[in-house]
Amino acid sequence: MRSLRILVVGAGVSGISIARGLLRDGHDVTVFERRPNLQAGGGAVTIWPNGATVLRQLAVDMAGAGQLLSTVRMSTSTGRALATLDLTAIAERLGAPIRMVPRRVLLERLLDGFPTDRIRCNSRAFKVATTRNSVRVGFEDGSFAQGDLLIGADGLHSVVRNIVGAPLAQPTGWCSWQGLLTLPDVVDPHVAQVIIGKQGNLGLWPAGGSAMQWWFDLPWSSDFIRPVSPIKLIRSAFTGWCDTADRVLTTLTDDDLAASPYPHFRHPIPRPGQGAVTLLGDAAHTMPPTLAQGTNQALLDTMVLRKALSDFRKGMNGRNGELSSALRWYEKTRRRRVDAVSRVASLPVSHSEFALRPAAMIPGRLHTWTLAVFLHFLSHRRMSAQISRDLQAATTAPPGRRP
Ligand SMILES: Cc1cc2nc3c(=O)[nH]c(=O)nc-3n(C[C@H](O)[C@H](O)[C@H](O)COP(=O)(O)OP(=O)(O)OC[C@H]3O[C@@H](n4cnc5c(N)ncnc54)[C@H](O)[C@@H]3O)c2cc1C
Repeated sequence: MRSLRILVVGAGVSGISIARGLLRDGHDVTVFERRPNLQAGGGAVTIWPNGATVLRQLAVDMAGAGQLLSTVRMSTSTGRALATLDLTAIAERLGAPIRMVPRRVLLERLLDGFPTDRIRCNSRAFKVATTRNSVRVGFEDGSFAQGDLLIGADGLHSVVRNIVGAPLAQPTGWCSWQGLLTLPDVVDPHVAQVIIGKQGNLGLWPAGGSAMQWWFDLPWSSDFIRPVSPIKLIRSAFTGWCDTADRVLTTLTDDDLAASPYPHFRHPIPRPGQGAVTLLGDAAHTMPPTLAQGTNQALLDTMVLRKALSDFRKGMNGRNGELSSALRWYEKTRRRRVDAVSRVASLPVSHSEFALRPAAMIPGRLHTWTLAVFLHFLSHRRMSAQISRDLQAATTAPPGRRP
Protein backbone atom coordinates (compact mmCIF):
# COMPACT_ATOMS: atom_id res chain seq x y z
CA MET A 1 0.00 0.00 0.00
CA ARG A 2 2.97 2.34 -0.70
CA SER A 3 1.94 5.86 -1.68
CA LEU A 4 3.56 7.26 -4.81
CA ARG A 5 5.44 10.54 -5.29
CA ILE A 6 3.53 12.00 -8.21
CA LEU A 7 4.54 15.04 -10.29
CA VAL A 8 1.77 16.75 -12.29
CA VAL A 9 2.74 19.34 -14.91
CA GLY A 10 -0.08 21.86 -15.52
CA ALA A 11 -2.67 23.35 -13.15
CA GLY A 12 -5.65 23.51 -15.54
CA VAL A 13 -8.82 21.49 -15.02
CA SER A 14 -6.95 18.23 -15.77
CA GLY A 15 -3.97 18.85 -13.48
CA ILE A 16 -6.04 19.99 -10.53
CA SER A 17 -8.63 17.19 -10.97
CA ILE A 18 -6.09 14.39 -11.03
CA ALA A 19 -4.07 15.96 -8.21
CA ARG A 20 -7.23 16.33 -6.10
CA GLY A 21 -8.18 12.70 -6.68
CA LEU A 22 -4.70 11.31 -6.02
CA LEU A 23 -4.25 13.39 -2.86
CA ARG A 24 -7.57 11.97 -1.64
CA ASP A 25 -6.16 8.51 -2.34
CA GLY A 26 -3.20 9.24 -0.07
CA HIS A 27 -0.46 9.89 -2.64
CA ASP A 28 2.23 12.54 -2.32
CA VAL A 29 1.33 14.90 -5.20
CA THR A 30 2.93 18.15 -6.40
CA VAL A 31 1.53 20.25 -9.27
CA PHE A 32 3.83 22.49 -11.36
CA GLU A 33 2.33 25.43 -13.26
CA ARG A 34 4.17 27.82 -15.56
CA ARG A 35 1.82 30.76 -14.79
CA PRO A 36 2.53 33.03 -11.79
CA ASN A 37 -0.91 32.35 -10.23
CA LEU A 38 -3.95 30.11 -10.55
CA GLN A 39 -6.38 32.69 -11.92
CA ALA A 40 -8.14 31.03 -14.83
CA GLY A 41 -8.98 32.78 -18.05
CA GLY A 42 -11.25 31.68 -20.86
CA GLY A 43 -14.97 31.37 -21.33
CA ALA A 44 -17.33 28.68 -20.08
CA VAL A 45 -17.12 24.91 -20.43
CA THR A 46 -20.00 22.43 -20.64
CA ILE A 47 -20.15 19.74 -17.98
CA TRP A 48 -22.09 16.75 -19.33
CA PRO A 49 -23.31 13.90 -17.09
CA ASN A 50 -20.11 11.91 -17.75
CA GLY A 51 -18.01 14.78 -16.34
CA ALA A 52 -20.49 15.67 -13.57
CA THR A 53 -20.28 12.11 -12.20
CA VAL A 54 -16.48 12.36 -11.91
CA LEU A 55 -16.75 15.74 -10.16
CA ARG A 56 -19.09 14.08 -7.66
CA GLN A 57 -16.56 11.28 -7.11
CA LEU A 58 -13.93 13.97 -6.46
CA ALA A 59 -16.30 15.55 -3.86
CA VAL A 60 -16.38 18.83 -5.80
CA ASP A 61 -19.42 20.86 -4.78
CA MET A 62 -21.00 22.20 -7.98
CA ALA A 63 -24.21 23.47 -6.36
CA GLY A 64 -25.17 26.83 -7.82
CA ALA A 65 -22.20 26.92 -10.24
CA GLY A 66 -22.91 28.27 -13.72
CA GLN A 67 -26.21 27.47 -15.42
CA LEU A 68 -28.19 24.23 -15.65
CA LEU A 69 -29.43 23.66 -19.20
CA SER A 70 -32.67 21.97 -20.28
CA THR A 71 -32.55 22.25 -24.08
CA VAL A 72 -30.27 22.81 -27.06
CA ARG A 73 -32.05 24.28 -30.09
CA MET A 74 -30.31 23.84 -33.42
CA SER A 75 -31.37 25.72 -36.53
CA THR A 76 -30.04 26.93 -39.84
CA SER A 77 -28.86 30.48 -40.50
CA THR A 78 -32.18 31.15 -42.28
CA GLY A 79 -34.19 30.16 -39.19
CA ARG A 80 -35.23 26.61 -40.19
CA ALA A 81 -35.42 24.36 -37.07
CA LEU A 82 -33.00 21.43 -37.31
CA ALA A 83 -33.18 19.64 -33.97
CA THR A 84 -34.19 20.15 -30.37
CA LEU A 85 -32.12 18.20 -27.87
CA ASP A 86 -33.91 17.47 -24.61
CA LEU A 87 -31.10 17.77 -22.06
CA THR A 88 -33.46 17.17 -19.15
CA ALA A 89 -34.25 13.72 -20.57
CA ILE A 90 -30.52 13.02 -21.04
CA ALA A 91 -29.81 14.15 -17.47
CA GLU A 92 -32.54 11.83 -16.13
CA ARG A 93 -31.26 8.92 -18.16
CA LEU A 94 -27.58 9.39 -17.26
CA GLY A 95 -28.10 10.50 -13.67
CA ALA A 96 -26.48 13.95 -13.64
CA PRO A 97 -27.34 17.41 -14.97
CA ILE A 98 -25.86 19.33 -17.89
CA ARG A 99 -24.30 22.58 -16.82
CA MET A 100 -22.47 25.48 -18.43
CA VAL A 101 -19.76 26.76 -16.07
CA PRO A 102 -17.23 29.57 -16.51
CA ARG A 103 -13.79 27.90 -16.55
CA ARG A 104 -12.76 30.24 -13.70
CA VAL A 105 -15.63 28.98 -11.52
CA LEU A 106 -14.88 25.33 -12.28
CA LEU A 107 -11.25 25.78 -11.26
CA GLU A 108 -12.29 27.61 -8.08
CA ARG A 109 -14.56 24.69 -7.17
CA LEU A 110 -11.83 22.16 -7.90
CA LEU A 111 -9.42 24.15 -5.74
CA ASP A 112 -11.88 24.45 -2.84
CA GLY A 113 -10.26 22.54 0.03
CA PHE A 114 -7.18 21.76 -2.11
CA PRO A 115 -3.89 22.20 -0.20
CA THR A 116 -2.37 25.06 -2.20
CA ASP A 117 1.11 24.32 -0.83
CA ARG A 118 0.95 21.36 -3.23
CA ILE A 119 1.07 23.74 -6.23
CA ARG A 120 4.28 25.40 -7.44
CA CYS A 121 3.59 28.36 -9.75
CA ASN A 122 6.24 29.98 -11.97
CA SER A 123 7.47 26.47 -12.80
CA ARG A 124 7.71 25.92 -16.54
CA ALA A 125 8.70 22.32 -17.23
CA PHE A 126 11.04 21.88 -20.17
CA LYS A 127 12.85 18.58 -19.82
CA VAL A 128 12.22 15.12 -18.46
CA ALA A 129 14.61 12.27 -17.70
CA THR A 130 13.49 8.81 -16.69
CA THR A 131 15.44 6.10 -14.92
CA ARG A 132 14.24 2.59 -14.13
CA ASN A 133 12.59 3.66 -10.87
CA SER A 134 12.04 7.39 -11.07
CA VAL A 135 11.27 10.44 -13.18
CA ARG A 136 13.03 13.79 -13.04
CA VAL A 137 11.52 17.01 -14.41
CA GLY A 138 13.66 20.07 -15.11
CA PHE A 139 12.24 23.61 -14.98
CA GLU A 140 13.31 26.74 -16.80
CA ASP A 141 14.54 28.39 -13.57
CA GLY A 142 17.13 25.60 -13.19
CA SER A 143 15.28 23.72 -10.45
CA PHE A 144 14.12 20.13 -10.81
CA ALA A 145 11.79 17.66 -9.11
CA GLN A 146 11.98 13.91 -8.77
CA GLY A 147 9.13 11.43 -8.35
CA ASP A 148 7.87 7.93 -9.06
CA LEU A 149 5.45 9.09 -11.75
CA LEU A 150 4.98 12.09 -14.05
CA ILE A 151 1.56 13.13 -15.39
CA GLY A 152 1.67 15.59 -18.30
CA ALA A 153 -1.50 17.72 -17.93
CA ASP A 154 -0.01 20.70 -19.73
CA GLY A 155 -2.62 21.24 -22.42
CA LEU A 156 -2.65 21.66 -26.18
CA HIS A 157 1.05 22.43 -26.75
CA SER A 158 2.22 19.99 -24.08
CA VAL A 159 5.95 19.83 -23.44
CA VAL A 160 5.58 16.40 -21.82
CA ARG A 161 3.77 15.15 -24.94
CA ASN A 162 6.66 16.31 -27.11
CA ILE A 163 9.18 14.68 -24.82
CA VAL A 164 7.42 11.29 -24.94
CA GLY A 165 7.37 11.58 -28.73
CA ALA A 166 3.59 11.59 -29.27
CA PRO A 167 2.50 13.09 -32.62
CA LEU A 168 1.84 16.82 -32.81
CA ALA A 169 -1.62 18.42 -32.89
CA GLN A 170 -2.97 19.14 -36.38
CA PRO A 171 -5.15 22.15 -37.21
CA THR A 172 -8.63 21.21 -38.46
CA GLY A 173 -9.10 24.27 -40.70
CA TRP A 174 -11.54 25.99 -38.34
CA CYS A 175 -11.31 28.47 -35.48
CA SER A 176 -13.58 29.97 -32.82
CA TRP A 177 -13.96 33.62 -31.97
CA GLN A 178 -15.34 33.21 -28.47
CA GLY A 179 -15.81 34.55 -24.97
CA LEU A 180 -18.22 35.37 -22.17
CA LEU A 181 -20.33 38.49 -22.06
CA THR A 182 -22.98 39.97 -19.82
CA LEU A 183 -26.33 39.87 -21.57
CA PRO A 184 -29.22 40.86 -19.28
CA ASP A 185 -32.84 39.76 -19.84
CA VAL A 186 -32.10 36.52 -21.69
CA VAL A 187 -35.57 35.10 -22.34
CA ASP A 188 -34.84 31.52 -21.30
CA PRO A 189 -31.50 30.96 -19.55
CA HIS A 190 -31.98 27.16 -19.62
CA VAL A 191 -31.94 27.04 -23.41
CA ALA A 192 -28.74 26.94 -25.48
CA GLN A 193 -28.71 27.73 -29.17
CA VAL A 194 -26.57 26.51 -32.06
CA ILE A 195 -27.05 28.00 -35.54
CA ILE A 196 -25.42 26.42 -38.57
CA GLY A 197 -24.80 28.08 -41.90
CA LYS A 198 -22.81 27.39 -45.02
CA GLN A 199 -19.89 29.65 -44.13
CA GLY A 200 -19.75 29.03 -40.36
CA ASN A 201 -21.72 28.40 -37.21
CA LEU A 202 -22.46 30.14 -33.93
CA GLY A 203 -23.39 29.18 -30.38
CA LEU A 204 -25.09 31.09 -27.58
CA TRP A 205 -25.00 29.15 -24.30
CA PRO A 206 -26.15 30.78 -21.03
CA ALA A 207 -23.46 30.35 -18.35
CA GLY A 208 -25.10 31.55 -15.10
CA GLY A 209 -26.71 34.84 -14.03
CA SER A 210 -26.57 37.10 -17.06
CA ALA A 211 -23.34 35.53 -18.40
CA MET A 212 -23.58 34.25 -21.97
CA GLN A 213 -20.93 32.13 -23.68
CA TRP A 214 -20.80 33.10 -27.35
CA TRP A 215 -18.82 31.64 -30.19
CA PHE A 216 -18.54 32.25 -33.89
CA ASP A 217 -16.77 29.52 -35.86
CA LEU A 218 -15.17 30.34 -39.20
CA PRO A 219 -12.60 28.69 -41.49
CA TRP A 220 -8.95 29.20 -40.50
CA SER A 221 -5.56 28.35 -41.96
CA SER A 222 -1.99 28.85 -40.81
CA ASP A 223 -1.57 31.82 -43.18
CA PHE A 224 -4.53 33.57 -41.49
CA ILE A 225 -3.96 37.33 -41.21
CA ARG A 226 -5.82 39.00 -38.37
CA PRO A 227 -8.10 41.76 -39.67
CA VAL A 228 -7.62 45.26 -38.26
CA SER A 229 -11.19 45.20 -36.93
CA PRO A 230 -12.25 41.57 -36.36
CA ILE A 231 -15.71 42.59 -35.13
CA LYS A 232 -16.50 43.86 -38.64
CA LEU A 233 -15.60 40.44 -40.05
CA ILE A 234 -17.77 38.65 -37.49
CA ARG A 235 -20.69 41.03 -37.99
CA SER A 236 -20.55 40.67 -41.74
CA ALA A 237 -20.64 36.86 -41.46
CA PHE A 238 -23.32 36.43 -38.77
CA THR A 239 -25.65 39.46 -38.58
CA GLY A 240 -29.30 38.54 -39.13
CA TRP A 241 -28.95 34.92 -38.02
CA CYS A 242 -31.18 35.48 -34.91
CA ASP A 243 -32.20 38.27 -32.53
CA THR A 244 -29.95 37.16 -29.67
CA ALA A 245 -26.94 36.85 -31.99
CA ASP A 246 -27.65 40.38 -33.25
CA ARG A 247 -27.75 41.65 -29.64
CA VAL A 248 -24.41 39.94 -28.95
CA LEU A 249 -22.85 41.31 -32.14
CA THR A 250 -24.01 44.84 -31.28
CA THR A 251 -22.53 44.57 -27.77
CA LEU A 252 -19.14 43.03 -28.71
CA THR A 253 -16.15 45.22 -29.52
CA ASP A 254 -12.72 44.49 -30.95
CA ASP A 255 -11.44 44.37 -27.34
CA ASP A 256 -13.75 41.42 -26.61
CA LEU A 257 -12.17 39.60 -29.54
CA ALA A 258 -8.59 40.34 -28.49
CA ALA A 259 -7.81 36.78 -27.29
CA SER A 260 -9.49 35.17 -30.33
CA PRO A 261 -9.41 33.41 -32.67
CA TYR A 262 -8.71 30.01 -31.13
CA PRO A 263 -7.74 27.67 -33.98
CA HIS A 264 -9.18 24.16 -33.61
CA PHE A 265 -6.61 21.39 -33.25
CA ARG A 266 -6.84 17.65 -33.06
CA HIS A 267 -4.20 15.37 -31.60
CA PRO A 268 -3.72 11.99 -33.17
CA ILE A 269 -4.44 9.77 -30.13
CA PRO A 270 -1.02 8.45 -29.05
CA ARG A 271 -0.22 4.76 -28.74
CA PRO A 272 0.45 3.55 -25.17
CA GLY A 273 3.63 5.15 -23.87
CA GLN A 274 6.56 3.83 -21.89
CA GLY A 275 7.88 3.97 -18.34
CA ALA A 276 6.49 6.10 -15.54
CA VAL A 277 5.19 8.98 -17.68
CA THR A 278 1.65 9.47 -18.96
CA LEU A 279 -0.57 12.20 -20.44
CA LEU A 280 -3.95 13.46 -19.34
CA GLY A 281 -6.59 15.88 -20.69
CA ASP A 282 -5.77 18.17 -23.62
CA ALA A 283 -2.12 17.08 -23.52
CA ALA A 284 -3.30 13.59 -24.46
CA HIS A 285 -6.17 14.42 -26.79
CA THR A 286 -6.90 18.00 -27.76
CA MET A 287 -10.00 17.98 -29.94
CA PRO A 288 -12.17 20.61 -31.60
CA PRO A 289 -14.80 22.11 -29.25
CA THR A 290 -17.72 20.95 -31.44
CA LEU A 291 -19.10 18.44 -28.94
CA ALA A 292 -18.03 20.47 -25.87
CA GLN A 293 -16.39 17.31 -24.50
CA GLY A 294 -12.81 18.53 -23.76
CA THR A 295 -13.27 19.08 -20.04
CA ASN A 296 -15.43 15.96 -19.66
CA GLN A 297 -12.83 13.76 -21.35
CA ALA A 298 -10.18 15.21 -19.01
CA LEU A 299 -12.39 14.29 -16.04
CA LEU A 300 -12.89 10.74 -17.37
CA ASP A 301 -9.10 10.42 -17.76
CA THR A 302 -8.88 11.37 -14.10
CA MET A 303 -11.36 8.69 -13.09
CA VAL A 304 -9.62 5.91 -15.04
CA LEU A 305 -6.06 6.90 -14.05
CA ARG A 306 -7.10 7.07 -10.40
CA LYS A 307 -8.57 3.58 -10.71
CA ALA A 308 -5.41 2.25 -12.40
CA LEU A 309 -3.20 3.62 -9.60
CA SER A 310 -5.56 2.49 -6.87
CA ASP A 311 -5.54 -1.09 -8.25
CA PHE A 312 -1.74 -0.91 -8.61
CA ARG A 313 -1.39 0.09 -4.98
CA LYS A 314 -3.60 -2.73 -3.82
CA GLY A 315 -1.60 -5.15 -5.98
CA MET A 316 -4.86 -5.93 -7.75
CA ASN A 317 -4.17 -4.91 -11.27
CA GLY A 318 -3.00 -8.33 -12.42
CA ARG A 319 -0.60 -6.48 -14.70
CA ASN A 320 2.69 -7.89 -13.40
CA GLY A 321 2.64 -5.45 -10.48
CA GLU A 322 4.58 -2.71 -12.27
CA LEU A 323 3.63 0.94 -12.24
CA SER A 324 4.29 1.18 -15.95
CA SER A 325 1.74 -1.61 -16.60
CA ALA A 326 -0.90 0.28 -14.61
CA LEU A 327 -0.27 3.39 -16.76
CA ARG A 328 -0.50 1.39 -19.98
CA TRP A 329 -3.82 -0.07 -18.80
CA TYR A 330 -5.12 3.49 -18.21
CA GLU A 331 -4.00 4.60 -21.68
CA LYS A 332 -5.51 1.58 -23.41
CA THR A 333 -8.77 1.82 -21.47
CA ARG A 334 -9.23 5.43 -22.50
CA ARG A 335 -8.00 5.11 -26.10
CA ARG A 336 -11.10 3.74 -27.87
CA ARG A 337 -13.54 6.18 -26.35
CA VAL A 338 -11.30 9.21 -26.70
CA ASP A 339 -10.62 8.29 -30.31
CA ALA A 340 -14.38 8.03 -31.00
CA VAL A 341 -15.25 11.38 -29.44
CA SER A 342 -12.29 13.11 -31.07
CA ARG A 343 -13.27 11.78 -34.52
CA VAL A 344 -16.91 12.83 -34.17
CA ALA A 345 -15.88 16.26 -32.82
CA SER A 346 -13.68 16.72 -35.89
CA LEU A 347 -16.48 16.23 -38.43
CA PRO A 348 -17.30 19.48 -40.24
CA VAL A 349 -20.36 21.22 -38.77
CA SER A 350 -21.04 23.89 -41.34
CA HIS A 351 -23.13 22.88 -44.34
CA SER A 352 -25.44 24.41 -46.87
CA GLU A 353 -29.15 24.70 -46.10
CA PHE A 354 -29.77 21.92 -48.64
CA ALA A 355 -27.35 19.49 -46.99
CA LEU A 356 -28.85 20.19 -43.56
CA ARG A 357 -32.44 19.51 -44.65
CA PRO A 358 -32.45 15.75 -43.86
CA ALA A 359 -31.50 16.46 -40.23
CA ALA A 360 -34.71 18.49 -39.84
CA MET A 361 -36.76 15.43 -40.78
CA ILE A 362 -35.43 13.33 -37.89
CA PRO A 363 -37.66 13.59 -34.80
CA GLY A 364 -36.14 15.49 -31.84
CA ARG A 365 -36.60 12.37 -29.69
CA LEU A 366 -34.22 10.46 -31.96
CA HIS A 367 -31.58 13.24 -31.85
CA THR A 368 -31.84 13.21 -28.05
CA TRP A 369 -31.66 9.41 -27.86
CA THR A 370 -28.59 9.30 -30.13
CA LEU A 371 -26.72 11.84 -28.01
CA ALA A 372 -27.67 10.00 -24.80
CA VAL A 373 -26.41 6.68 -26.22
CA PHE A 374 -23.16 8.31 -27.36
CA LEU A 375 -22.58 9.90 -23.95
CA HIS A 376 -23.38 6.58 -22.31
CA PHE A 377 -20.77 4.85 -24.49
CA LEU A 378 -18.18 7.52 -23.60
CA SER A 379 -18.73 7.27 -19.86
CA HIS A 380 -17.13 3.94 -18.79
CA ARG A 381 -20.51 3.41 -17.12
CA ARG A 382 -19.74 0.13 -15.38
CA MET A 383 -16.48 1.35 -13.90
CA SER A 384 -17.99 4.70 -12.97
CA ALA A 385 -20.99 3.09 -11.24
CA GLN A 386 -18.71 0.73 -9.27
CA ILE A 387 -16.49 3.63 -8.14
CA SER A 388 -19.54 5.65 -7.06
CA ARG A 389 -20.91 2.63 -5.14
CA ASP A 390 -17.56 2.04 -3.40
CA LEU A 391 -17.32 5.71 -2.41
CA GLN A 392 -20.88 5.64 -1.11
CA ALA A 393 -20.14 2.49 0.91
CA ALA A 394 -16.95 4.05 2.30
CA THR A 395 -18.75 7.20 3.47
CA THR A 396 -21.66 5.33 5.06
CA ALA A 397 -19.60 2.57 6.75
CA PRO A 398 -18.93 2.99 10.50
CA PRO A 399 -15.55 4.75 11.05
CA GLY A 400 -13.69 1.61 12.19
CA ARG A 401 -14.68 -0.28 9.02
CA ARG A 402 -13.85 2.36 6.44
CA PRO A 403 -11.24 1.24 3.92
C1 LIG B 1 -6.67 30.17 -21.12
C2 LIG B 1 -7.60 29.05 -21.52
C3 LIG B 1 -8.91 29.34 -21.87
C4 LIG B 1 -9.80 28.31 -22.22
N1 LIG B 1 -11.07 28.63 -22.53
C5 LIG B 1 -11.95 27.66 -22.86
C6 LIG B 1 -13.30 27.98 -23.17
O1 LIG B 1 -13.70 29.13 -23.19
N2 LIG B 1 -14.16 26.96 -23.47
C7 LIG B 1 -13.74 25.65 -23.47
O2 LIG B 1 -14.56 24.73 -23.72
N3 LIG B 1 -12.46 25.32 -23.19
C8 LIG B 1 -11.57 26.29 -22.88
N4 LIG B 1 -10.26 25.97 -22.59
C9 LIG B 1 -9.86 24.56 -22.73
C10 LIG B 1 -10.33 23.71 -21.56
O3 LIG B 1 -9.91 24.27 -20.34
C11 LIG B 1 -9.70 22.35 -21.74
O4 LIG B 1 -10.09 21.78 -22.99
C12 LIG B 1 -10.09 21.31 -20.72
O5 LIG B 1 -10.53 21.88 -19.51
C13 LIG B 1 -8.92 20.41 -20.40
O6 LIG B 1 -7.95 21.21 -19.79
P1 LIG B 1 -6.45 20.82 -19.50
O7 LIG B 1 -6.21 21.06 -18.05
O8 LIG B 1 -6.13 19.49 -20.07
O9 LIG B 1 -5.63 21.88 -20.37
P2 LIG B 1 -5.51 23.46 -20.13
O10 LIG B 1 -6.78 24.03 -19.66
O11 LIG B 1 -4.91 23.99 -21.38
O12 LIG B 1 -4.44 23.58 -18.94
C14 LIG B 1 -3.06 23.29 -19.12
C15 LIG B 1 -2.27 23.99 -18.03
O13 LIG B 1 -0.90 23.62 -18.15
C16 LIG B 1 -0.08 24.78 -18.01
N5 LIG B 1 1.17 24.53 -18.74
C17 LIG B 1 1.35 24.43 -20.08
N6 LIG B 1 2.63 24.17 -20.37
C18 LIG B 1 3.29 24.08 -19.19
C19 LIG B 1 4.67 23.82 -18.83
N7 LIG B 1 5.62 23.59 -19.77
N8 LIG B 1 5.01 23.79 -17.51
C20 LIG B 1 4.05 24.03 -16.55
N9 LIG B 1 2.76 24.30 -16.84
C21 LIG B 1 2.38 24.31 -18.13
C22 LIG B 1 -0.93 25.89 -18.63
O14 LIG B 1 -0.53 27.17 -18.19
C23 LIG B 1 -2.33 25.51 -18.13
O15 LIG B 1 -2.60 26.05 -16.85
C24 LIG B 1 -9.35 26.96 -22.25
C25 LIG B 1 -8.01 26.67 -21.90
C26 LIG B 1 -7.13 27.70 -21.52
C27 LIG B 1 -5.70 27.38 -21.13
